[in-house]
Amino acid sequence: DTTHGAILYLEEITVSFDGFRALNKLSLDISVGELRCIIGPNGAGKTTMMDVITGKTRPTSGTAFFGQTMDLSRMTEYQIAHAGIGRKFQRPTIFEQHTVFENLELAMKTDKRVRPTLFARLSSEQHGKIDEILKLIRLSGSERRLAGLLSHGQKQWLEIGMLLMQEPQLILLDEPVAGMSDAETARTAELLNELRGKHSIMVVEHDMAFVTEIAQQGVVTVLHEGSVLAQGTMAQVQSDERVIEVYLGR
Ligand code: ADP
Repeated sequence: DTTHGAILYLEEITVSFDGFRALNKLSLDISVGELRCIIGPNGAGKTTMMDVITGKTRPTSGTAFFGQTMDLSRMTEYQIAHAGIGRKFQRPTIFEQHTVFENLELAMKTDKRVRPTLFARLSSEQHGKIDEILKLIRLSGSERRLAGLLSHGQKQWLEIGMLLMQEPQLILLDEPVAGMSDAETARTAELLNELRGKHSIMVVEHDMAFVTEIAQQGVVTVLHEGSVLAQGTMAQVQSDERVIEVYLGR
């Protein structure tokens, strides 16, 4: 069984836009607890792949499974989000007029489908969860600050914290260090390394130094023209002639 232990399983996914194949028989799977980096030149299909996984784009053909049983191609965006796939876009979608703490509170996963309300009494367990995430996202001590006053990097971390509050089973991060300073990028790498093994994470990123930091001995997938060009450790893909050609040969 090739899907054993896979949280995400894409098989021969094709997405055609007026005959143009943004994804062309893309096959890829992510194991539970894996931190997978996805790289590839502009137009490779990275965004389209994320859109298929989150239900924003329907595949023209192919199979997309989440866990062992959930067929993503038959689910709405809402159902997929509820099933536990969380996506962080490049542009943060935090509540700027609320504090850091309130942002985390608002993002908290609720058992029933009730809207979380601010200032409702939090259980000590819920408080503990927020404290733990504040520490992870390097915002302990800043919980009473207005989110709108945070630095660019802090806003990105807050949004990662908000994703984690929802306890997603698969986290998709779209260029998490875009626009960050070197110091913020380094701290983001530390943060992701702390999440390693505890969460299943897919990171799409252009910053190769950052990818090298977080990939470590894990698998890096290189997309090109809508399918997988190469896959392996960072050292393996970096020395792959086909990869060198698509990055440098144009
Ligand atoms: P990446 O994120 O790797 O830069 P994209 O997934 O955004 O790549 O795009 C892959 C290809 O599909 C590109 O050539 C892009 O122009 C094309 N594409 C993406 N979305 C659409 C769309 N809605 N309609 C037509 N073409 C699209």
